[in-house]
Amino acid sequence: MKRIGVITSGGDAPGMNAAIRAVVRAAIGRGASVVGFTHGYEGIIDDEAMPLDSISVGGIISRGGTMLRSARSKTFMTEDGRDRAVGVLRKHELEGLVVIGGDGSLRGALALHDEFGFPVMGVPGSIDNDISGTDFSIGFDTAVNAALEAIDRVRDTAYSHERIFVIEVMGRQNGFIALEAGLAGGAEAILIPEVPYSLMEICTDMKRAAVRGKRSSIIIVAEGAARASDIKDFIEKNTGFEARQLVLGHMQRGGSPTAFDRVLALRLGALAANRLISGYTAEMVGVDGVKLVSHPLSYVLSTERAIDPEKLLLAGVMAQ
Ligand code: ADP
Repeated sequence: MKRIGVITSGGDAPGMNAAIRAVVRAAIGRGASVVGFTHGYEGIIDDEAMPLDSISVGGIISRGGTMLRSARSKTFMTEDGRDRAVGVLRKHELEGLVVIGGDGSLRGALALHDEFGFPVMGVPGSIDNDISGTDFSIGFDTAVNAALEAIDRVRDTAYSHERIFVIEVMGRQNGFIALEAGLAGGAEAILIPEVPYSLMEICTDMKRAAVRGKRSSIIIVAEGAARASDIKDFIEKNTGFEARQLVLGHMQRGGSPTAFDRVLALRLGALAANRLISGYTAEMVGVDGVKLVSHPLSYVLSTERAIDPEKLLLAGVMAQ
């Protein structure tokens, strides 16, 4: 393979730039050239091509977001849209495409392969870490650390003023960020969509803790489990303690990627380019522990990534 394309698609994630850099430089190392398209699948359809050489991806490794921009594309969801996208890819004489993005973006990549036989390679880029076939997706570690920094800062005030803080973190469908940041931040309770919880029990625990002299608590809630404002109101009503709420929102998504995310992105980007150029297709690269792996996209997209039961248990024990 002598020419490949690359896009970032769906929700942006810190480390995507490092992945683009790795795709480009690994491909050049193999004697191939790379064309990027801005704005994901929408940009392919609109022919927003951008040749990428080694210099064009210099100085981006420390930047969050994605230099190729990202977008969601309704047109690409139609077969006609995908047909037009393949037309543009072929016009540029591209023989394969690396897609850096989340679950939806990877579904789009698989459609290109299944419907048109176009070679694709997926790279998991998602702060949510909800993609199966990899222990970590690019951006998760940075998002967890951003949430953790906020938790640590709030804890100082919670302790000094003996207050309860309810902090809402990202995670509409799952609690991966909430569990990781909650564990690292020493949260008294972690509420996630995957696990049923009793707010009344949490209130009882807080009243008991107050008798022991512990009057400050931090509760982490994934946005898919409940809204921070509702939890705060419930706690105030049922304990009589004063509570505060904080919704972290988009500050978790941006920012300079951590060393972990940069190295992960470099390894996954390079592996994706190398495998695509070597003739593999319809796979997603990932890590299993510290080892690089690559799984069929059909497997990745038909398997749910589950919360680690050992970490859940640990969170329960640590909250006592
Ligand atoms: P993410 O990649 O972060 O999960 P989305 O779910 O919004 O984000 O997906 C990004 C884009 O991928 C969508 O706007 C659409 O163009 C494309 N896409 C998503 N699902 C499919 C699908 N089932 N078939 C084809 N394209 C899809």
